Amino acid sequence: ARASALEESTGPGVTKDGHKVPLLANIGGPKDVEAALAHGAEGVGLYRTEFLFLDRSAPPSDEEQEEAYRKVLEAFPGGRVVVRTLDAGADKPLGFLPAPGEEPNPALGERGLRMMRRHPDVLAAQLAALARAAAGLTARLQVMAPMVTDAAEAAWFAAACREAGIGHPGVMIEVPAAALRAGDLAPEVEFFSIGTNDLAQYACAADRQVGGLARFQDPWQPALLDLVAPAAVAGVPCGVCGEAAGDPALACVLVGLGVTSLSMSAPSLPLVRAALARHTLDECRRAAAAARAARTPEQAREAARGHLPALA
Ligand code: PEP
Ligand code: MG
Repeated sequence: ARASALEESTGPGVTKDGHKVPLLANIGGPKDVEAALAHGAEGVGLYRTEFLFLDRSAPPSDEEQEEAYRKVLEAFPGGRVVVRTLDAGADKPLGFLPAPGEEPNPALGERGLRMMRRHPDVLAAQLAALARAAAGLTARLQVMAPMVTDAAEAAWFAAACREAGIGHPGVMIEVPAAALRAGDLAPEVEFFSIGTNDLAQYACAADRQVGGLARFQDPWQPALLDLVAPAAVAGVPCGVCGEAAGDPALACVLVGLGVTSLSMSAPSLPLVRAALARHTLDECRRAAAAARAARTPEQAREAARGHLPALA
């Protein structure tokens, strides 16, 4: 039966036939928790911790980090909170972590986990602060690394987490090599989260910050769906936390590809929740197959909608 209007606007994410898809919020810090809760987020799927580190000449103190993380974890008792470790470099340069010399192409340079491998002390301090923040709370802390390229990097990050006493490490899938070889990374970690913004940037070799190339950020590109597909079925739970997750029709397509949770900016949650509640998993799968069979983003959108009759 169709869910009531109230369930559609506040309940957990679930398809019409009862397949659960946790709906989570993307946040930049404790200040975003209120909106996440107001829109019925079941937890946090992407806590972008770099905002703590930007625009300063020294890293935040251990205490400052611990306090920020605890505020978020406390807001979701019993819920999941996925924290992304510092994603510095490229579009997020840090004053106190200079790039190693000139980088003509910062988006292809030492950013994300690559920078943490150069500064393991910064990562270790962050992981330790996260472990302290989560102690004694019921929220399920999950920590993931950005900009991971291969199994060796995933293994290195998982070991750093274990060292800090943090279980259930994960990695973001936002580099095409990682998506294509997701099966190699899966044994090293306990979950994936696909960052469709960077995945589109790197799949199309088109800087996401260059306005004139905006069409390559279209998350309906069949090439992007082809990269999501192998990651979604690699054997570990696989969420999506890029902009794609907040498009109601595309959210159904992602679920049809095998994605197990969706994280988005809080205001997108109600429409995505409603779209899932009105379609079966089988309809989502048919929409996904139709979208992947298309040749352009426009055709993919049209084709998917043909299998999702109850979209608002
Ligand atoms: C992404 O790349 O899709 C993502 C979620 O991370 P960010 O936008 O912060 O790079
Ligand atoms: Mg990213």
